[in-house]
Amino acid sequence: MRVKIRVTGIVQGVGFRPFIYRIATKNKLTGYVRNRGDAGVEILVEGTEKNVKRFIEQLQMKKPPLAQIHQVLVESLSGEQAYSNFSILKSSKETELSGSVVPPDVAICNECLTELRNPRNPRHAYFFITCVNCGPRFTIIERLPYDRQNTTMRQFSMCTFCQKEYTDPANRRFHAQTVACPKCGPEAYLTTNKGERIDCEDPVREAGKLIAEGNILAIKGYGGFHIATSTLLSEPIAKLREVKYRSQKPFAIMARSIEAVRRFAKVSPEEEELLLSHIRPILLVRKKEKFPLSDLIAPGLHTVGVMLPYTGMHYMLFDKVNEPAFVMTSANPPNQPIINNDKAALKKLGNFVDYFLFHNREIAQRCDDSVVRLHGKNQSIIRRSRGYAPAPIRLKTHVSKTALGLGGELNVTGCIMLGNKAFLTQHIGDVENLETLQFLKEAVYHLARLINAEIEAIACDLHPKFSTTRLAENLGAQLNVPVLKVQHHYAHTAALMAEHNLDELICIACDGYGYGEDGGAWGGEIIYAQQSGTWSFKRLAHLEQHTLLGGDLATRYPLRMAAAILAKETSPEKLWEWLKTQKEKFPYGEVEIQLLMQQIEKERKYPKFLTSSCGRVLDAVAAILGICSERTYEGEPAMKLEAIATKGKEALSLKPEINGNSLITSNMVKEVFLNRGKASVADLAFSAESYLARGLATLAIEKALELGVKNVGFTGGVAYNEHITLTIKRIMEEAGIQFFVHRLVPPGDGGISFGQAIIAGFAE
Ligand code: ZN
Ligand code: ZN
Ligand code: FE
Repeated sequence: MRVKIRVTGIVQGVGFRPFIYRIATKNKLTGYVRNRGDAGVEILVEGTEKNVKRFIEQLQMKKPPLAQIHQVLVESLSGEQAYSNFSILKSSKETELSGSVVPPDVAICNECLTELRNPRNPRHAYFFITCVNCGPRFTIIERLPYDRQNTTMRQFSMCTFCQKEYTDPANRRFHAQTVACPKCGPEAYLTTNKGERIDCEDPVREAGKLIAEGNILAIKGYGGFHIATSTLLSEPIAKLREVKYRSQKPFAIMARSIEAVRRFAKVSPEEEELLLSHIRPILLVRKKEKFPLSDLIAPGLHTVGVMLPYTGMHYMLFDKVNEPAFVMTSANPPNQPIINNDKAALKKLGNFVDYFLFHNREIAQRCDDSVVRLHGKNQSIIRRSRGYAPAPIRLKTHVSKTALGLGGELNVTGCIMLGNKAFLTQHIGDVENLETLQFLKEAVYHLARLINAEIEAIACDLHPKFSTTRLAENLGAQLNVPVLKVQHHYAHTAALMAEHNLDELICIACDGYGYGEDGGAWGGEIIYAQQSGTWSFKRLAHLEQHTLLGGDLATRYPLRMAAAILAKETSPEKLWEWLKTQKEKFPYGEVEIQLLMQQIEKERKYPKFLTSSCGRVLDAVAAILGICSERTYEGEPAMKLEAIATKGKEALSLKPEINGNSLITSNMVKEVFLNRGKASVADLAFSAESYLARGLATLAIEKALELGVKNVGFTGGVAYNEHITLTIKRIMEEAGIQFFVHRLVPPGDGGISFGQAIIAGFAE
């Protein structure tokens, strides 16, 4: 019997050909296996029918752990046996299939880690130790098929020792494209902040010592540069905050081991499992009551973002020091993508780091660390990047058109919907300037090439001024395909529904801002959505609208939001009196407050700038409680409010007040205001969140009953809030309603592109 088999999925760069080689020879088959230009694998086998059948069975049952098989296409061949043995052939360039892809980067495996520590192993203490089961993949591949010459390992020719392992079917590095050793592979070296090489025998461990001593280092990794410094000394962190213009935004840290994490954070078994998984994301874990690391790492937050070492180099950084963890934050200038080449690093980081730890391998694709949080056992992805991208999310439904979604403006990703698979790019960032827009463009092109996709429709946000909207229009014209503009919260809703294969949903979509269908600022929405062939959406209800006093300034200075809301139920005199006590928190002091009072008067008569944003209500509460009066990063007031609320309990017990199709919030804000000093800040923070959660749930249940819908979902950035999410969940369970949250795509704006693409994929 002779058959040709084509396998699609994630089958290159995961040890698939060596695996095929082994099961083919075990089953006494002859023929070949080879990689194809479309990221798939092609196999030809000859042998007895029984053996061929068993081979095909084993192919699917015993696949390597990192492989993902989407399709196995078997085709019988006629003719005589043509091969006398089984071999791995040179890759073909054929690209007729689409939808296969290269794997994400994989954290160092235990076998490599053991070798790294073994003084008798030739790769003892070699920072770039990898094998067929681990190492960089997505970030190293320039084009397909996945052969060494198509990766940035091209320049390193294997020594005889590596070559021997590479060609030995019994070896773990049989056909491992990243195989390298100290003799033939990439080299790490230390330089001054001007790029002058520092002579030193053990540069990686020396770098670890320099970090522990309080220096700031830029470290080149798999998908970009990190900036590292001590977690015990506050001075270098303070300096880092100053030079990075990040006065408050939390820094991620890398802990030396899981035991070290347990010493400064409370981690559940599920959290430990995720921390130790081959994805190795940054996980937001709860700080211990007495936090032994510097308070400057994650000021005002109850969580800290921690990851474990995921390369040989990372492990070695800790070898000569006792530090439990290092600050390890992406090196990117404000609003620009993560730095991925040496020259840019020297230019953009040289003036504030003390040293560089470079290596001489180029980075093909930049890729930030992923960020995840667990709500109980459910994973809530904040940033889906290294370890996840570009592996697809597989859905139950197939789109009718291959569609590209380009996201919104903040936390952007791109997404290509192809068949029943959603391919999301790595995290791109806030697309507010040319560099990030260029990064988005390149990432999308690269992804389309990798999966062999031909774009038939493009979707973007409804906002006419987003640069992603303009990019969509340009690309649409260039490719001559339709461009669909999708309302922000409809995209959030579609993402949630597609993830759970739902055709109907009452969705609570809460975040900071999304351009509404009416041109208004939405952000606290109850949406009915239906998917039957095409999608339809209806905004059923929303949070009470409030004035954004001074437009964008109201987002930056939440006291303005507080003033706008309080003005509804408080006399101007009382409001003026209180605002004056807050005057140091306004950049222009009393003058600004006077102007604010005039604006309030004007807005009362001719309201402009109204918003139904949930984020802005949380901001206002945070400002009133003195938790945050200037937002220096996205979500800051709400995150700090959540941190304090974790220590609180219900103090107000307000019944949700619903007026027509809106949930009133000014009553709650006023109660918080009036109870300052009577109830604790933590209790009031808790009560505010609880009111919003209960109110949104009440409104959603009301609508669900009205329309006879059995499913309610929760999406948008506010869904990261554990207290709000779990409160809504509890209420839904009590009401016997199925409740859905995200698991695979971010509830925040990183999931927008996915929602857009799934809508465009079904559009006529
Ligand atoms: Zn390995
Ligand atoms: Zn070698
Ligand atoms: Fe959003």
